[in-house]
Amino acid sequence: MGVRGFAGPESGTWGTHVRAQSGPAACDKLVRMDSPRERRAAARTIRGVRARFQEPARRAALALLLALPAAAASAQGGLNPALPLTHLDHGPNSAWAEAQHYVVLVSLDGFRWDYARRDHATHLLALGRQGVWAPEGMLPSYPSVTFPNHLTMITGLYPEHHGIVANHFYDPARKAHFSMSDAQDVSDGSWYAGVPIWSLAESRGMRTACLLWPGAEAEIAGERPTWYAHFDEKTETSGQGEQARIDDAAALLRLPAEERPHFIAIYYSEPDREGHEHGPDAPETRAAELKMDALVGKLKAALDATGLPIDLVVVSDHGTVRPEGGWITLDQFADLKGFETEGALLYAESEDDRARVYEELKRATSQFMVYRLRNVPAELHYNANPRAGDPVIVATGPYAVRAHAPADGDSKPPAGMHGFDPRVVPEMKASFFAAGPDIVAGKTVAPFENVNLYPWMAHMLGLTPPKNDGSLNILSGTLRDGGRDDGLDAGR
Ligand SMILES: [Zn+2]
Ligand SMILES: [Zn+2]
Repeated sequence: MGVRGFAGPESGTWGTHVRAQSGPAACDKLVRMDSPRERRAAARTIRGVRARFQEPARRAALALLLALPAAAASAQGGLNPALPLTHLDHGPNSAWAEAQHYVVLVSLDGFRWDYARRDHATHLLALGRQGVWAPEGMLPSYPSVTFPNHLTMITGLYPEHHGIVANHFYDPARKAHFSMSDAQDVSDGSWYAGVPIWSLAESRGMRTACLLWPGAEAEIAGERPTWYAHFDEKTETSGQGEQARIDDAAALLRLPAEERPHFIAIYYSEPDREGHEHGPDAPETRAAELKMDALVGKLKAALDATGLPIDLVVVSDHGTVRPEGGWITLDQFADLKGFETEGALLYAESEDDRARVYEELKRATSQFMVYRLRNVPAELHYNANPRAGDPVIVATGPYAVRAHAPADGDSKPPAGMHGFDPRVVPEMKASFFAAGPDIVAGKTVAPFENVNLYPWMAHMLGLTPPKNDGSLNILSGTLRDGGRDDGLDAGR
């Protein structure tokens, strides 16, 4: 959809999600990221993949980087050339890793928690019946937008801890903006903190693949997936590109045991795109949901055909709601001169400005709350990272908030939006379905925070996760072994 019109929607890389309307935050990990060692790592990373290949220490590890042409693809056992993959030679799976199960994680962007039942998404519902699902939804982390939540699901950290506090934000220490639409930003590992599950696995000798996933193009925690795809909007949204993710997952799982990835992440941008353009109740959005459901059905059949012990986990990052009213523009209530802004995020150089704008916005409207960063309510986990700005705006309902109107003409908010607190706007809740050899059959789970996916998936892979914001206890009842710790990490 054409999204340049308003102060928030995202276009280009990673699609058309609306920018955080109501204020994302930042992290104590920032301190670590600004250490001299992290700075050096950042300097190395920011030059991109090519420069890294020229480092002697790295060269030996990276035998191959290629966009596989058709001939090579068939030689690789059915990789679909519609989705070019980068392959890094990380060596074979360790003997320990070879003995572990497989996890395939699929995210359907913006697939609201109630869509599957509402629109009879038969494949998703069947997956839930075969294993587990969350009929009342899964709670996204705040803000309920795409990049922060995809990073949360694969690191177990709230956005303020993994550092991607919004799809677009400013880092006051670094004096730089991050945008998920900027190919260089998303592939620059110095923006990210935490240990993605693929980095955890790779560090333990277990191979992984990311068939599009936010953050997968960056080196994070010193590792990259063995296989990953570069995000390109045309490819991502094309029918061939959609099919290619399924073909590639199946092909990678047909590789010899020593080469097979044990963790595969797959991202689809629907039904979020249609949801933004037409709203959550529109026929176009429903059609996109069912198209995604059909792809899940195809994927499940392809995974079953491998005969491997694969746990299939299908989630979404957030839901969608039709916003009420028009844009609420912060500069109509407060003088934001001298502020850096991103969406509704506010960054001032001086404490005087922060205090003044806080006072001015406090009296503005009942449609949002304004907090000094340190006072953002604890349940939002959004009060510790300067990347969230200060003061912080939190909408009190489905209201579209922005700092400024765009220079190139105003427009109405899109028909569907997200970014809101799921405890206040339940339409923000996400989907969760999973089945496989490690998962009990026919169980439902109450709404749970998506930080808990990380220790749960790590357990299914036999990995001991680093300290994170999730807990295995939350989902241990869905595991056939009850989440017992024995036998983990023999591969270390
Ligand atoms: Zn979106
Ligand atoms: Zn999203």
